[in-house]
Amino acid sequence: CGIVGYIGKRDTAPLLLEGLQRLEYRGYDSAGIAIQTGGAAGKPGALKTAKTKGRVRDLEERVPKRFSGTAGIAHTRWATHGAPNDVNAHPHLDPAEKVAVVHNGIIDNAAELRAKLSADGVAFVSETDTEVLVHLIAAAQAESLEGRVQEALRHIEGTYGIAVLHADFPERIVVARNGSPVVLGIGENEMFVASDVAALVSHTRQVVTLDDGEMATIKAGDYRTYTTEGSRTSSSPETVEYAA
Ligand code: GLU
Repeated sequence: CGIVGYIGKRDTAPLLLEGLQRLEYRGYDSAGIAIQTGGAAGKPGALKTAKTKGRVRDLEERVPKRFSGTAGIAHTRWATHGAPNDVNAHPHLDPAEKVAVVHNGIIDNAAELRAKLSADGVAFVSETDTEVLVHLIAAAQAESLEGRVQEALRHIEGTYGIAVLHADFPERIVVARNGSPVVLGIGENEMFVASDVAALVSHTRQVVTLDDGEMATIKAGDYRTYTTEGSRTSSSPETVEYAA
């Protein structure tokens, strides 16, 4: 239902929680957050998560005091596959806790992919359609995170707006859109991503709206957009007028 992401120097968790609160008007049944920690000087980082059924306020209470990092993604869920509960709340992680994904939309061939992955020995923890994406990204062979997400998306039929963190690629967030909105918020040495400009206009009015079939990599200092096939797309930020 709602996605917020941030990469930059500020304390990530409070920014993401504030963003989620701005999306509350859309309605949701659970909320969650994943933060990238460590990962300086080319070393892999680690992912920390907190999620819960209920309100963003309930999530806030579950976020540990020491929960700071340099990048993060957060989600409010409106369940389509699997009951609203703590386990089915996003972000979803692979067993090695390398990959974290938040997803808006519906993966139409989730049952089929789940059966295939299970036959290959993958153990699912949630009932969501989203979790297939996590395992596909974790199993992808491409060298770059962008390549792995593209590899995974090739198997997916349905709609998605996604944001992906990977512990081994700590300095970036990769996002993709197909039928579910994703906008980038361009800041000064910080970048935002959201499913709705309402979550980011208090920080920046410079916005890039992704098209269907488009992806983006955001880093603190820059961003680039490209298609799910890998060709670069041009995207200059627009200034949004927004009455709060
Ligand atoms: N289909 C996903 C789920 O049920 C995402 C729902 C949403 O857009 O919040 O978990």
